Amino acid sequence: QPVIVAIDGPSGTGKSSTSKAVAAQLGLRYLDTGAQYRAITWWMVTNGIDIDDPTAIAAVAGKPEIVSGTDPANPTITVDGVDVSGPIRTQEVTDRVSAVSAVPEVRERITELQRSLAAAAENGIVVEGRDIGTTVLPDADLKIFLTASPEARAARRSGELKGADLHSTREALIKRDAADSSRKTSPLAKAEDAIEVDTTDLTLPQVIECVVTLVEE
Ligand code: C5P
Repeated sequence: QPVIVAIDGPSGTGKSSTSKAVAAQLGLRYLDTGAQYRAITWWMVTNGIDIDDPTAIAAVAGKPEIVSGTDPANPTITVDGVDVSGPIRTQEVTDRVSAVSAVPEVRERITELQRSLAAAAENGIVVEGRDIGTTVLPDADLKIFLTASPEARAARRSGELKGADLHSTREALIKRDAADSSRKTSPLAKAEDAIEVDTTDLTLPQVIECVVTLVEE
């Protein structure tokens, strides 16, 4: 019986590092759903689609072919055959991803991809995102909701971005989470049956151990 683990939460809570490590330790596949939304956003920006026009975004939402590799040791993402793992992490994409992912046609498209990847995972999969436990995989075997204080989240993010200003990182992160939490279609939310883990005062190995223990229970 494949095991499906959903890990949701805002940015900077350690979702990606935790999900990847848990999947590797347990021999499961891994899916970063944020990377998929970033990839479709990158395609929209690259093709000059007006990000402030949801109708324009909806009209082309089905066009790019997005392929995610689900090996936790080497997660890959391509758009129309082009490796976009670097370009999807730019500030430009980060600033626009919330608007693109709020468009229902975009979410339908990406949700379908996510469900088929989860169904194809023989031993199971760890899927990380914002709406996995509530919308994408409501029947997941285990749902985790990671949280952390805004200060801890901003500190982790600016550490990743090497030298980014802490204050502006914090503001940008709070703004993105607010946009993700307030959109009409499948917002960032904790599922009723999710286990909340506050990572503010935990190290990454502690969070990983906590989740692995919960999967094994
Ligand atoms: O996790 P990451 O920060 O890379 O996600 C980028 C963005 O993708 C989020 O801010 C959100 O707008 C969108 N997203 C989403 N639903 C998910 C995962 C990510 O809307 N399941």
